[in-house]
Amino acid sequence: MSRVVILGCGPAGLAAAAAAVSTGHEAIIISNTDKPSTQYGAQYLHAPVPGYEDVTKVRVTYSLNGTPEEYRKKVYGGLWTGKVSPEDFAGDHDAWDIRETYARLWANLISDLRAGLIQRQIKNGGIPFIRSLRPDLIVSTIPAKALCQNPGHQFRSHVIYADGSTSAATMPDNTVICDGTEENAWYRISSVFGYRTTEWPARRAPTHSGAVQVVKPLWTDCNCHPEVLRAGRYGAWEKARLVHEVYPAVREALDPFRGEAGTDPDVIRGIERVTGETHEGGGRWRM
Ligand SMILES: Cc1cc2nc3c(=O)[nH]c(=O)nc-3n(C[C@H](O)[C@H](O)[C@H](O)COP(=O)(O)OP(=O)(O)OC[C@H]3O[C@@H](n4cnc5c(N)ncnc54)[C@H](O)[C@@H]3O)c2cc1C
Repeated sequence: MSRVVILGCGPAGLAAAAAAVSTGHEAIIISNTDKPSTQYGAQYLHAPVPGYEDVTKVRVTYSLNGTPEEYRKKVYGGLWTGKVSPEDFAGDHDAWDIRETYARLWANLISDLRAGLIQRQIKNGGIPFIRSLRPDLIVSTIPAKALCQNPGHQFRSHVIYADGSTSAATMPDNTVICDGTEENAWYRISSVFGYRTTEWPARRAPTHSGAVQVVKPLWTDCNCHPEVLRAGRYGAWEKARLVHEVYPAVREALDPFRGEAGTDPDVIRGIERVTGETHEGGGRWRM
């Protein structure tokens, strides 16, 4: 059986753990919290996490006012010249409930002790501690900078403002409207599974108190620890990464270990053996 150490216990981290456990490998998660991440606003999965295909599914209508060029300029100024989301998603597509999936992943993996959870902050490259767990594969979903050991590496991002509860326009549920025009200050309003988000470019930041600044990753040239599989938007520090992409990426990385999969991973005893620590209960450790 191979051991997969996963950094971060958000939806991306648990999707990675599901990929490991469902193929008979051992999953140990290291995260600075032992609580689930809060999901703000209208987020959804573009494909189900395998094993969780029966979560609530809806059809989302995704549209763009103006052209992709106008949208790119409105949202990013000159910071980004690549593709923007309406170029990928305009039209109708299926959406799976990310909250329901994440709650079920948490119950199956963390509450039912199929994955171990060590509470610890990773910083300044933090690899020696991770290595002490003797992983066969490391998957990182925590912000990529935490694994960086070269101050010259760049982590480019752009700042937007988002309001996860107030809509800027009346709209039907399961609808996303992108706007590249100068007519509206916002560039995207979304209503999916009853949750709403309005997003504004920084130069047209709203003044009401509900809107918060959000840092969105664009790209990084960090190549520290090339052996680590960087997954999820923050782990990869890359624009447009989505949660549903994590499971297949981890499955693929585990392909070389296929013959080593076991059927009953004893995660608790495995971690105790390696760390010499007795768990506090619930498969969780503080280190
Ligand atoms: C406005 C907006 C809308 C989005 N919409 C979608 C969408 O519809 N669909 C989609 O797939 N994605 C979407 N995303 C992107 C992103 O995939 C989601 O936000 C997703 O919920 C993030 O999950 P995650 O597990 O990658 O990160 P998080 O939920 O942030 O989890 C990171 C984990 O790492 C831990 N951690 C952080 N730093 C450290 C450290 N130094 N050491 C140890 N642990 C650490 C945290 O405590 C947490 O457990 C959206 C993003 C934004 C901003």
